Amino acid sequence: MFSPLNLTRRQSRKIYVGQVAVGGDAPITVQSMTNTNTHQVEETVAQIRALQQVGADIVRVSVPTLEAADAFGKIKAAVNVPLVADIHFDHHIALKVLELGVDCLRINPGNIGRQNRVQAVISSAKDKGVPIRIGVNAGSLEKDLQKKYGEPTAEALVESALRHIDILDKLNFFDFKVSLKASEIFMTVAAYRQLATQIEQPLHLGITEAGGFRSGAVKSAIGLGMLLAEGIGDTIRVSLAADPVEEIKVGFDILKSLHLRQKGINLIACPSCSRQNFDVIKIVNELENRLEDIVQPLDVAVMGCVVNGPGEARAAQIGITGGTPHHLLYLNGKPVGKTNSEELVDELERMIRTQIHPQASI
Ligand code: SF4
Repeated sequence: MFSPLNLTRRQSRKIYVGQVAVGGDAPITVQSMTNTNTHQVEETVAQIRALQQVGADIVRVSVPTLEAADAFGKIKAAVNVPLVADIHFDHHIALKVLELGVDCLRINPGNIGRQNRVQAVISSAKDKGVPIRIGVNAGSLEKDLQKKYGEPTAEALVESALRHIDILDKLNFFDFKVSLKASEIFMTVAAYRQLATQIEQPLHLGITEAGGFRSGAVKSAIGLGMLLAEGIGDTIRVSLAADPVEEIKVGFDILKSLHLRQKGINLIACPSCSRQNFDVIKIVNELENRLEDIVQPLDVAVMGCVVNGPGEARAAQIGITGGTPHHLLYLNGKPVGKTNSEELVDELERMIRTQIHPQASI
C-alpha cells in the first residue's frame, strides 16, 4: 500500500496509563470520555465497554464530587481499559481516586491551591505510579493570562501549560502528558507546535468543543492531521457533540488515513454515479455495519464500475468492481470470481472474514 508519509515522530518520554504506553515509540493511542452520569455506575460501565469494543485504548471519566469518586472506584473495578479521572480543583477527590485505583489523573496542579495540597496529590501519584495529564483549555485560561494577552492565543495556552509543568518539575514529577485545546484549529496547532519543542513529555491532541458529528470530525481531522503529519502527538481525543463511540471511530479513521495506525477495515469506496452497476452507498453502509467487530487491518475496495474500479480493486487486498451482468471480485490483486448484486455483500463479508480467519466461515 502506498504510504506518502515518511514522518519523523517527535521524540517523547514514554509514560504508562495503566498498561497502555503513551509516547516514545508506542502506537498513538485513541481515547474518549464518558458522557453518562458517573454516579450511575452500570450505565457508565456499559458505555466504557462500548468504547472498548470499538478500540478505545484509554477512557476518561469525570469525577466532580467525592460521591462520584466512590462510583469511580466501582466503575474501575468493573472494566479493564485504563481510566483517567477528570478532576477540577478538589484535591480530596484526587486523593480518593488515587486510593481507590486510577490509571491517570487529569488535574491541573496550578488549580489545586495550597502547596501542601499539591504536594499531597503529587506524592500519592508518585507512590502509586499514576501519571498526570495537564489539560489547558482556551475557555478556562487564568485571569491574568486573559488580561495579558487580551484573548486566548497560542502563546497564552503555552504559558499556562508551562506554569503547571513548572509545579511538577519542582516536585520532581516527570510522568505527565499535556493537552492545549482550543476550538480554533490554527491556534491549537500553533500552541502544540510551540510546546512540542519545549518539553519532552507526550502530547495529548484534541480540538476542543469541535462541534457536532460532521463538523467536529472535519475540524478534528484537519487540526490533528496537521500535527500528526508533522510527527507531533502521542494520544488523541476527537471531541464531538455525539455518541463517544463515534469519537473513537473518527480517531482511528484519522490515524488510519495517515498510515499511523492500522485497525479494522480500511474501506476504499467510490462516491458512485450513474455508471454504478450496484448500489455502492448501500453496500458500503452495510459492510461498515457488519464488519465493526474486525480489528485486523485490511484494505477493501468497493467500486461501482470499470472506470476506476479495476485499479483500486487490484491495489486493495479485497476488491469488487461493478460490471454487467456480473461484478468482479479481486483478492490480493487478482480477479478471483464473479457475483451478482443480491449476493454481493454476503460474498464480500465471507471473503473478508476468510482472509482474516482462514478457518472461519459465515
Ligand atoms: Fe462512477 Fe464508476 Fe467512478 Fe464509481 S468508479 S464513481 S461508478 S465512474
